[in-house]
Amino acid sequence: MIYCVEDESAIRDLVVYTLKASGYEAQGFESDAGFWAAMKELKPELVILDVMLPGEDGLKILKKLRSSPVTMDIPVIMATAKDSEYDKVIGLDSGADDYLAKPFGMMEMISHIKAVLRRSSPKQVNIITYDGIAMDMNKHTVTVNGNPVSLTLKEYELLKLFIGNPGHVFTRDALLTEIWGMDFAGETRTVDVHIGTLRTKLANAGDLIQTIRGVGYKMMEKHEQ
Ligand code: CA
Repeated sequence: MIYCVEDESAIRDLVVYTLKASGYEAQGFESDAGFWAAMKELKPELVILDVMLPGEDGLKILKKLRSSPVTMDIPVIMATAKDSEYDKVIGLDSGADDYLAKPFGMMEMISHIKAVLRRSSPKQVNIITYDGIAMDMNKHTVTVNGNPVSLTLKEYELLKLFIGNPGHVFTRDALLTEIWGMDFAGETRTVDVHIGTLRTKLANAGDLIQTIRGVGYKMMEKHEQ
């Protein structure tokens, strides 16, 4: 379930329509009142929050979400008007997981949602394993054949993405977007450096991460080994 708090009905309806058409359950609210009432009934997987709202504004709602242990982990994407609010909201470091500058396209919105949902792991899944690699998603620890491996946050996120999508070829640009974020002004070499250190740290299991020449990287599928 995805909640969208947006006072402009045209935008809200389009967002909810698009989400449903993309296979998500979705519900729209024009202000904080309906949103908080719904939160008591069902905790969503993700919230899209407009900034300027009647009643509590989006930043205040976000702050309240983050201050409660029950709701602090819910991913939030802030929707902000481009010039006036965008820089301000980002400058505030409000604790949102991502931002969408209005007017945003629906495909853009869906790709942001998918990226945010991929990054936020469900709490009930504790350990994911892949061919000798075990990742404890709650403790943020990794072992290879039982031996602890110390990864940086970016290496960890890369490994998580690969293990979650075996066989999928990620371009360097896609990895930059997924792991470093839309606004990261880095070079694709950054990706190569991190893949290199990740492979080294994974020792034998590092060979599972394959270079696809001229394209990017993928996690080898079980039948390829
Ligand atoms: Ca608004």
